[in-house]
Amino acid sequence: MNAPVVARPSDLQALKALMAERSSVHFVAGGTDLLLSGRQLPSTGTLVDLSGVDGLSGIDLRETDIRIGGTTTVAAIEMHTGLAMLLLALTQAAAECGSVQIRNRATLGGNIANAAPAADLIPVLALSKARLKLLLPGGASDEIALEDFQRVSGALIAEVMLPRQELLPHSAFAKLGSRGDLTIARINMAAMAEFSDNRFGLVRLAAGALGPRPIRLVRAERVLRDQRLAPTPLHLFLEALSVDVDAAIPGRVSRLWKRRAVRGLGLNLIARLCGLSQRDPLFDEVL
Ligand SMILES: Cc1cc2nc3c(=O)[nH]c(=O)nc-3n(C[C@H](O)[C@H](O)[C@H](O)COP(=O)(O)OP(=O)(O)OC[C@H]3O[C@@H](n4cnc5c(N)ncnc54)[C@H](O)[C@@H]3O)c2cc1C
Repeated sequence: MNAPVVARPSDLQALKALMAERSSVHFVAGGTDLLLSGRQLPSTGTLVDLSGVDGLSGIDLRETDIRIGGTTTVAAIEMHTGLAMLLLALTQAAAECGSVQIRNRATLGGNIANAAPAADLIPVLALSKARLKLLLPGGASDEIALEDFQRVSGALIAEVMLPRQELLPHSAFAKLGSRGDLTIARINMAAMAEFSDNRFGLVRLAAGALGPRPIRLVRAERVLRDQRLAPTPLHLFLEALSVDVDAAIPGRVSRLWKRRAVRGLGLNLIARLCGLSQRDPLFDEVL
């Protein structure tokens, strides 16, 4: 039976040396996708266990950007209070990734590299204009935009960088799955906005699970921009969300229910974004 050689480098230097000297290198971090989803493990080459590599995990809130190491666990993201102050949507997305056990193992780099359409962290990272610091197969480094990352590139995601100038003051995440809790998203949505004195300024919205990558909900963004938080703009926002979903998945059977479901999800997202209860009477007037 073929099997890969397993390597467990303990620091970045040893990892880089491995990547420079071995020709076929595969990575495993938390193993929640690679080992649990039943996907085929590589049968040859070197399987590098990233979980013990010193210097690849951690959250650093810098003046110019937020840096999150590639092997930082989803639980660490969920629990980081400083990060929540700056980008609550990422905290909320992390808190809704699987169970406690999954979050304790699952990593940010694994979520990005696995690139599932329903991955919960990616829509937030996309809205934040995330950049990735990569280690390339030969051992060199590179930096690219999140949307330029190719899953099969063989590159290691060493760090995720979120430029602070791209973040808007309010952000939120919401998802809808086949059950209320511990569910894979059928649709997820992230929002980032300026919101003060009951009025929106700039608004950015992205949805996951509608295609291979998150899509921007441009019509809904336009409708909400510079509007008051009031029934009429919210009603127009929901109409625009349905149109955005129609445009994203034309001809797909799921379009019929997703274009309706996205409206409820949209209101959950607005409630989170504006710090309201989902049962606020404002929402009764809209639906
Ligand atoms: C029961 C269950 C529930 C789940 N629920 C959710 C959920 O609600 N939301 C959600 O988004 N996901 C969910 N997942 C998926 C999974 O937990 C996440 O995608 C997780 O973030 C993957 O990280 P990992 O470290 O476990 O990846 P691994 O399984 O270790 O690796 C996954 C892939 O990424 C590659 N990889 C890992 N790290 C790196 C790196 N630093 N650089 C380059 N490539 C790398 C590996 O080679 C592999 O191809 C769930 C999984 C399970 C089993």
